[in-house]
Amino acid sequence: MVEEYDVIVVGAGPAGSVAAYGLARSGFKTLLVERRREVGVPVQCGELLPTPQEMSDLFPNSPRAQRLVDVPSDIIVNRTRIMRLVSPRGRKYDFQLHANIVDRSRLDQYLARKAQDAGAKLVLRTRVTERDPNNIIDMRGPGGRTEAKARVVVGADGPRSLIAKSIGNRYDRPDVELSQTMSFTLADIETDPSIAEMYFGEHVAPGGYGWVIPRGFHEANVGLGVRAAFAAPERPLRDYLHTFVKKDPMVAPRMRGGRIIRRIGATVPVAGPVRHTWSENVVLVGDAAGHVMASNGGGIPTAMVGGELAAEAVAAHLERGTSLGQYEVAWRREMGRELETALSVLRVADEVMRSDAITEVCMRLAGSYFLEPMIRCRLPLAVDFAAKSFVKVLQIGVQ
Ligand SMILES: Cc1cc2nc3c(=O)[nH]c(=O)nc-3n(C[C@H](O)[C@H](O)[C@H](O)COP(=O)(O)OP(=O)(O)OC[C@H]3O[C@@H](n4cnc5c(N)ncnc54)[C@H](O)[C@@H]3O)c2cc1C
Repeated sequence: MVEEYDVIVVGAGPAGSVAAYGLARSGFKTLLVERRREVGVPVQCGELLPTPQEMSDLFPNSPRAQRLVDVPSDIIVNRTRIMRLVSPRGRKYDFQLHANIVDRSRLDQYLARKAQDAGAKLVLRTRVTERDPNNIIDMRGPGGRTEAKARVVVGADGPRSLIAKSIGNRYDRPDVELSQTMSFTLADIETDPSIAEMYFGEHVAPGGYGWVIPRGFHEANVGLGVRAAFAAPERPLRDYLHTFVKKDPMVAPRMRGGRIIRRIGATVPVAGPVRHTWSENVVLVGDAAGHVMASNGGGIPTAMVGGELAAEAVAAHLERGTSLGQYEVAWRREMGRELETALSVLRVADEVMRSDAITEVCMRLAGSYFLEPMIRCRLPLAVDFAAKSFVKVLQIGVQ
């Protein structure tokens, strides 16, 4: 027998759990399906979440973003106040950016529990393997194969979303549009707990950057993201990470003797929002929708904002028959400009920062004054205009 729901949410990451919470709280029969055996485990994240105050600067059109990132204090393991960008030759560019370093598995579990407490049914160890145009969902779980049907499906199934594919999205250039990451959590190291660091240069992370995000005085998430189109052919990702951790003159001395307590390999979509974030009976949220700040890879706040907006649009659709297209109107209003700017920054960087020498010069010319807004998904007006024009010229060139 096919069980029927108002909504099936696929994926219990931040996007899916926030969406499921909103829908269940509004009284809709909601199923939240997660393929993992435990929500949030293993952690696939640097765990940096800007503070509510920073959110008002990062996403000024989304007051809800401040509320959503205001997580309970027992989820926070450290607080940073400086963002440090490091050039290929080791020059440091510091600016203030206050962030909470969260225990990501605890955050995901907290959000999923809220959804359950509001009435959503969570099923674990269950993978969605197919969605047909009538929203019949095929699932494989401990009990074997099952089917369920929903009036609306929320695709919150991450960067390689099956639900996104089912409504016609695809990556034309995965080697450019997806960043492959690898990272460790290292214990028994020495690090300044107030500074989060980003390392640039093709010798560190071609098409991406390396990071050191402190979880305290003696523990940090250390990793990098690389895009295949920019990397040396045949050079494995673990080789880049090994060089970064063991040989980088600014990183290696602090990591010596460190103990690896977690290893992560995951994908970050950096191509901006996907072409179709909704259809007549589906909405996409979080990474599945490409809602990641392309210039810094951050996607937790946008996942939560998108999750809540999706819940509101789906509720209105089920109650009053309004179009699910309202969801796209809403996410564009609250975070569209920032996501677009972040993408412009990345595209310009892709064209300009082709070698360590050029990256070094660009970072010196830009200085903290220009680098800071770029990381914050914002550009000084003149640069914004120049960047957008540059991207337009590139697009015309490609056509
Ligand atoms: C290495 C790394 C570091 C990062 N660091 C940061 C950071 O410091 N700060 C930040 O803001 N962002 C960071 N991000 C990005 C951030 O983790 C994501 O943007 C965020 O998790 C998106 O949330 P989501 O709910 O959309 O997707 P996810 O958190 O990926 O959740 C998707 C869920 O769907 C489940 N799922 C997938 N397919 C299926 C299926 N077929 N059936 C059932 N379940 C399925 C998955 O198991 C998963 O639990 C980082 C990403 C990576 C990879």
